[in-house]
Amino acid sequence: MPSDCLFCRIVSGELQSSQVYSDNSVVAIRDIAPQAPTHVLLLARKHIASLRELTGADQSIVGDIFSAAGEIAKSEGIAEGGYRLVVNEGRNGGQTVDHLHVHLLGGRPMAWPPG
Ligand code: 5GP
Ligand code: ZN
Repeated sequence: MPSDCLFCRIVSGELQSSQVYSDNSVVAIRDIAPQAPTHVLLLARKHIASLRELTGADQSIVGDIFSAAGEIAKSEGIAEGGYRLVVNEGRNGGQTVDHLHVHLLGGRPMAWPPG
Protein backbone atom coordinates (compact mmCIF):
# COMPACT_ATOMS: atom_id res chain seq x y z
CA MET A 1 0.00 0.00 0.00
CA PRO A 2 1.54 3.33 -0.99
CA SER A 3 1.66 5.24 2.29
CA ASP A 4 1.26 8.57 0.49
CA CYS A 5 -2.01 7.58 -1.23
CA LEU A 6 -5.04 9.31 0.28
CA PHE A 7 -7.51 6.57 -0.65
CA CYS A 8 -5.20 3.76 0.54
CA ARG A 9 -5.07 5.52 3.88
CA ILE A 10 -8.88 5.74 3.95
CA VAL A 11 -9.27 2.08 2.91
CA SER A 12 -6.90 0.97 5.70
CA GLY A 13 -8.82 3.04 8.25
CA GLU A 14 -5.81 5.23 9.01
CA LEU A 15 -7.85 8.27 7.88
CA GLN A 16 -11.46 8.88 8.91
CA SER A 17 -14.26 8.64 6.37
CA SER A 18 -18.01 8.20 6.27
CA GLN A 19 -18.24 4.61 5.06
CA VAL A 20 -21.46 3.35 3.48
CA TYR A 21 -20.36 -0.06 2.14
CA SER A 22 -17.48 -2.50 2.30
CA ASP A 23 -16.66 -5.91 0.86
CA ASN A 24 -13.54 -7.87 -0.07
CA SER A 25 -12.64 -5.65 -3.01
CA VAL A 26 -14.55 -2.38 -2.52
CA VAL A 27 -14.86 0.32 0.14
CA ALA A 28 -17.51 3.01 -0.45
CA ILE A 29 -17.42 6.37 1.34
CA ARG A 30 -19.27 9.68 1.13
CA ASP A 31 -17.39 12.31 -0.87
CA ILE A 32 -16.02 15.09 1.33
CA ALA A 33 -17.26 17.71 -1.18
CA PRO A 34 -20.57 16.30 -2.43
CA GLN A 35 -21.74 17.43 -5.87
CA ALA A 36 -25.23 15.95 -5.48
CA PRO A 37 -27.53 14.93 -2.59
CA THR A 38 -25.98 11.46 -2.86
CA HIS A 39 -22.27 11.43 -3.75
CA VAL A 40 -20.51 8.20 -2.88
CA LEU A 41 -16.99 7.18 -3.92
CA LEU A 42 -16.41 3.50 -4.59
CA LEU A 43 -12.74 2.79 -3.93
CA ALA A 44 -10.90 -0.32 -5.02
CA ARG A 45 -9.34 -1.87 -1.91
CA LYS A 46 -6.26 -2.60 -4.00
CA HIS A 47 -4.07 0.32 -4.98
CA ILE A 48 -4.55 0.72 -8.75
CA ALA A 49 -3.54 4.24 -9.76
CA SER A 50 -5.96 4.51 -12.68
CA LEU A 51 -7.57 2.63 -15.55
CA ARG A 52 -4.19 2.84 -17.34
CA GLU A 53 -2.78 0.47 -14.74
CA LEU A 54 -5.68 -1.98 -14.78
CA THR A 55 -4.65 -5.49 -15.84
CA GLY A 56 -6.67 -8.54 -16.77
CA ALA A 57 -6.12 -9.88 -13.26
CA ASP A 58 -8.01 -6.89 -11.88
CA GLN A 59 -11.11 -7.28 -14.05
CA SER A 60 -13.21 -8.72 -11.25
CA ILE A 61 -12.60 -5.58 -9.17
CA VAL A 62 -14.33 -3.45 -11.80
CA GLY A 63 -17.29 -5.83 -11.78
CA ASP A 64 -17.39 -5.73 -7.99
CA ILE A 65 -17.40 -1.91 -8.01
CA PHE A 66 -20.34 -1.74 -10.44
CA SER A 67 -22.24 -4.40 -8.55
CA ALA A 68 -21.68 -2.53 -5.26
CA ALA A 69 -22.80 0.73 -6.92
CA GLY A 70 -26.13 -0.86 -7.82
CA GLU A 71 -26.59 -2.06 -4.25
CA ILE A 72 -25.68 1.32 -2.75
CA ALA A 73 -28.05 3.10 -5.14
CA LYS A 74 -30.85 0.92 -3.78
CA SER A 75 -29.92 1.54 -0.15
CA GLU A 76 -29.63 5.30 -0.83
CA GLY A 77 -33.11 5.28 -2.38
CA ILE A 78 -31.98 6.56 -5.79
CA ALA A 79 -32.13 3.35 -7.83
CA GLU A 80 -35.61 3.97 -9.21
CA GLY A 81 -35.11 7.65 -10.03
CA GLY A 82 -31.78 7.07 -11.69
CA TYR A 83 -28.24 8.20 -11.02
CA ARG A 84 -24.84 8.58 -12.64
CA LEU A 85 -21.57 6.64 -12.34
CA VAL A 86 -18.43 8.57 -13.28
CA VAL A 87 -14.75 7.70 -13.66
CA ASN A 88 -12.46 10.70 -14.05
CA GLU A 89 -9.45 9.23 -15.85
CA GLY A 90 -6.15 11.09 -16.02
CA ARG A 91 -5.57 14.81 -16.12
CA ASN A 92 -7.98 15.63 -18.96
CA GLY A 93 -10.58 13.42 -17.33
CA GLY A 94 -10.32 15.48 -14.15
CA GLN A 95 -8.79 12.78 -11.93
CA THR A 96 -7.33 14.31 -8.77
CA VAL A 97 -6.69 11.21 -6.63
CA ASP A 98 -4.56 8.54 -8.30
CA HIS A 99 -6.34 5.51 -6.86
CA LEU A 100 -9.06 3.81 -8.89
CA HIS A 101 -12.52 5.00 -7.87
CA VAL A 102 -16.01 5.45 -9.28
CA HIS A 103 -18.32 8.33 -8.33
CA LEU A 104 -21.97 7.49 -7.65
CA LEU A 105 -24.04 10.66 -7.99
CA GLY A 106 -27.79 10.93 -7.54
CA GLY A 107 -30.73 12.60 -5.89
CA ARG A 108 -31.06 15.30 -8.56
CA PRO A 109 -31.31 15.39 -12.38
CA MET A 110 -27.90 15.28 -14.07
CA ALA A 111 -27.00 17.52 -17.00
CA TRP A 112 -25.39 16.33 -20.24
CA PRO A 113 -22.80 16.96 -21.58
CA PRO A 114 -20.67 17.13 -18.43
CA GLY A 115 -18.30 20.06 -17.99
P1 5GP B 1 -11.44 12.56 -8.70
O1 5GP B 1 -11.38 14.04 -8.94
O2 5GP B 1 -10.07 11.97 -8.55
O3 5GP B 1 -12.30 11.82 -9.69
O4 5GP B 1 -12.22 12.39 -7.33
C1 5GP B 1 -11.63 12.56 -6.08
C2 5GP B 1 -12.75 12.86 -5.12
O5 5GP B 1 -12.26 12.65 -3.82
C3 5GP B 1 -13.29 14.29 -5.17
O6 5GP B 1 -14.67 14.28 -5.48
C4 5GP B 1 -12.99 14.83 -3.77
O7 5GP B 1 -14.03 15.66 -3.28
C5 5GP B 1 -12.88 13.55 -2.96
N1 5GP B 1 -12.02 13.67 -1.81
C6 5GP B 1 -10.80 14.28 -1.76
N2 5GP B 1 -10.26 14.15 -0.53
C7 5GP B 1 -11.17 13.43 0.20
C8 5GP B 1 -11.16 12.98 1.55
O8 5GP B 1 -10.24 13.19 2.34
N3 5GP B 1 -12.28 12.28 1.96
C9 5GP B 1 -13.32 12.01 1.12
N4 5GP B 1 -14.36 11.32 1.63
N5 5GP B 1 -13.34 12.43 -0.16
C10 5GP B 1 -12.27 13.14 -0.61
ZN1 ZN C 1 -4.04 3.97 -3.17
